[in-house]
Amino acid sequence: MNLAPLPPPAPDLLHSPPMRDPKEPIHTFADLEHWPHAGVALGILGHPIAHSLSPAIQNAALAALARSDPRFEGWRYFKFDIAPAELPRALDRLHQLGFRGLNLTVPHKAAAVAHLAAADAFVHAAGAANTLLRTDAGWRGANTDGPGLSAALRQDPGLELAGAHVILLGAGGAARAAAVECLRQHCAALWIGNRSHERLDALVGNLENFAAGIPLHSFALGQPPSDLPAGAILINATAAGLDPRDPAPVDLRLLPRPAGVFDMTYGPTPTALLRTATDLGIPRADGVSMLVHQGARAFELWTGVAAPLAVMSAAARSALSHD
Ligand code: NDP
Repeated sequence: MNLAPLPPPAPDLLHSPPMRDPKEPIHTFADLEHWPHAGVALGILGHPIAHSLSPAIQNAALAALARSDPRFEGWRYFKFDIAPAELPRALDRLHQLGFRGLNLTVPHKAAAVAHLAAADAFVHAAGAANTLLRTDAGWRGANTDGPGLSAALRQDPGLELAGAHVILLGAGGAARAAAVECLRQHCAALWIGNRSHERLDALVGNLENFAAGIPLHSFALGQPPSDLPAGAILINATAAGLDPRDPAPVDLRLLPRPAGVFDMTYGPTPTALLRTATDLGIPRADGVSMLVHQGARAFELWTGVAAPLAVMSAAARSALSHD
């Protein structure tokens, strides 16, 4: 896979007190007819979108930046509920209005790819974009979920994908980005487990074009194979855990002990998977740091300056605690 290496995470240049979740208003496609904001605008499109923490994280970072650099006064990040059928028209209208950048979340990451003027290699490999940057010709797509995952793993629980055995749970959009990142970072081998075999087979089939000799294995989530390796990084990219009452997607007690468990899900309460990891004394982390790191990379693409990671992280934790 011919993907350019990414720069290391930006240092924290700005240390400001965290902003509380401003409970952003939710805009719709109709609001774009007479858009009132005169400054530079960014935004996130999703459906539903109410739960998104990205506006709290990005607006805290923009406010911190504006305090030290007047060029960023008037920059603001907005939240849009856009139904799938509205996506092409919304992308056109936001470009016409001069929006500088966008994030995409469920269910738009894959659907948007057909409407991009250009896209980076990661988007082509994962078939999904989560960050768009305005160009005169149209939107340029990037995917910061994968790099956000490896930066988060490095931060906590302090694990590197390079050279690691990885057990990835899930075959949806988040798992696709995670799988491409594992291959891009040259993991030693990748096991992917999913509940339904259709999505699993499609993902593994697509990854074979990029694996470049890295062993790829797939399994049914309910029947983990007996030869899973000990000491692996276990990543949950399924939606099991969105509700803290959800059972864990796999029973950690039945698997060879992993080196660490990373659950992309995040919320005020730890998931069943993370609770079991804690009971077993296995290093673990939830998905907030990934959310922050993918957001930091998007911020840097839009602003051209280093993201204030500590500000973004504090804003995310604060917004979660006020959920
Ligand atoms: P998708 O809808 O694209 O995929 C959902 C995946 O979860 C599928 O593999 C699906 O399996 C599986 N799944 C759903 N419910 C269950 C269940 N009860 N038991 C086992 N498997 C289940 O969602 P995404 O890939 O976009 O998101 C997945 C998770 O990752 C979400 O919790 C999301 O919030 C999180 N996420 C976190 C990010 C972060 O920055 N921290 C970034 C992106 C996502 P099947 O194919 O069988 O339906």
